[in-house]
Amino acid sequence: MVSGPPLGIFPNPQKCWLIVKPEKERPAKEIFNETTINITTEGRKHLGAALGSRDFFEEYVDEKVEEWVAQVTILAEFATTQPQSSYAAFVFGLRHRWTYFLRTLPDIAPFLEPLERAIADLLVPAITGHVTTQEERDLLELPVRLGGLGLVNPARTASQEYEASVKITGPLVRQIVKQAHEPPDETEIKTLQASARKEKDELLKMQCEQLRESLPSKTERAVELATEKGASNWLTVIPIKEMNFNLNKREFRDAIKLRYDWEIADLPAMCTCGDLFTINHAMVCRHGGLIIQRHNEIRDLEAEMLRMICTDVETEPVLQEITGEELNRGANKAPDSRLDVHARGFWDRQQSAFFDVRVCHPNADSYRELSPKQIFQLHENEKKRQYSRQVLEVEHGTFTPLVFTSTGGMADECKRFHSRLAELLALKKGDDYATTISWIRAKVSFAILRSALLCLRGTRRKRRAANISDIDITSESAQARI
Ligand SMILES: [Zn+2]
Repeated sequence: MVSGPPLGIFPNPQKCWLIVKPEKERPAKEIFNETTINITTEGRKHLGAALGSRDFFEEYVDEKVEEWVAQVTILAEFATTQPQSSYAAFVFGLRHRWTYFLRTLPDIAPFLEPLERAIADLLVPAITGHVTTQEERDLLELPVRLGGLGLVNPARTASQEYEASVKITGPLVRQIVKQAHEPPDETEIKTLQASARKEKDELLKMQCEQLRESLPSKTERAVELATEKGASNWLTVIPIKEMNFNLNKREFRDAIKLRYDWEIADLPAMCTCGDLFTINHAMVCRHGGLIIQRHNEIRDLEAEMLRMICTDVETEPVLQEITGEELNRGANKAPDSRLDVHARGFWDRQQSAFFDVRVCHPNADSYRELSPKQIFQLHENEKKRQYSRQVLEVEHGTFTPLVFTSTGGMADECKRFHSRLAELLALKKGDDYATTISWIRAKVSFAILRSALLCLRGTRRKRRAANISDIDITSESAQARI
């Protein structure tokens, strides 16, 4: 009986390469004379990175960069018709192609300049439909949560990625140098990873602060609003059609321009109400019922989510009439007053909870000088003054105002409402909280975005009086000899 080979890796000398410094070439050749091991002073590819002389290395990086530039160029071509999917392809996929190289190859920043040019000059305008200034380009490279689009500048992040990687792999390198066979200490690596993340985050925040000072005040304000919690979730999901997360090219570019308060070129000059048509006007003009639709859209979405966990969910519940109860000043005392949503068992078991939705436009004339926080407080307080006492005293229920901005931000009570919603939903469905809250935020974010797009592009013209459903087709056909 013949036994098979023992377990282990057996290097094939013909496939082995020894990379040596030029002065060590001769001794190396003497030492390995008896073997078929290959010896070079130039360099070789190694696990996707490169080892060897600087010349070899530069040639290798150049070749790679050329490849990536070609890929970005192709993606930019797609982006002219499919900006949202191309954006997703870049942030979820393509940009990670070079992360590994950034981490393993030192001093490559200058070689990445052509790649940055392709991203800035081809891809960014194709995705956004906007020609950016240098400040705007710098803004878009920031992560979405800091007001950017995550359209990274590889030339800027290269050295940072490399240094972080050197630190994190330190313990492993130590073991290799010692020729120790145990793996490096796991907790030490975790600590190093955490500190690298923190360092990166601090650097980004600093970069963000400096940049915001140099932005025009209009864009600065837009970034302030875009960094509100909930305002960016539509950008961080994969555009899946079945989930209604996909936007057509005009919707996507409009959405980006709304995010940065950039000019939208092809809007009508005048509104049907007679005023000049601007983005700010579109978000507040009540003509054509679009503002009401925006409100109802959000109300219905929240009610739908409440139905998954509460009983007795109703939209537009009528409050009981006030029959002599003493209410505060400013309270709404009109008979037949309605709130937006009622649900039972939300904050407490069996208890009635009432909710009222308000969507305000933070760049409306009256709020322009206020911070998002002040705007939220203004609306929350007003709603509570109107309804809190009545709901408490007459209905024995709770009242929660749900205040949103048209740019996707949420007031504190509204955030608490969503946290509780996520908690209950996660419990009911057996999912974890983090997944559930992200799902809720994505849903809400898209509802607000779609409503904003409707206010921007929807028709405010009055419908013509003739109602097509009442038409007698036979008689009209006969009359017009169709
Ligand atoms: Zn108008």
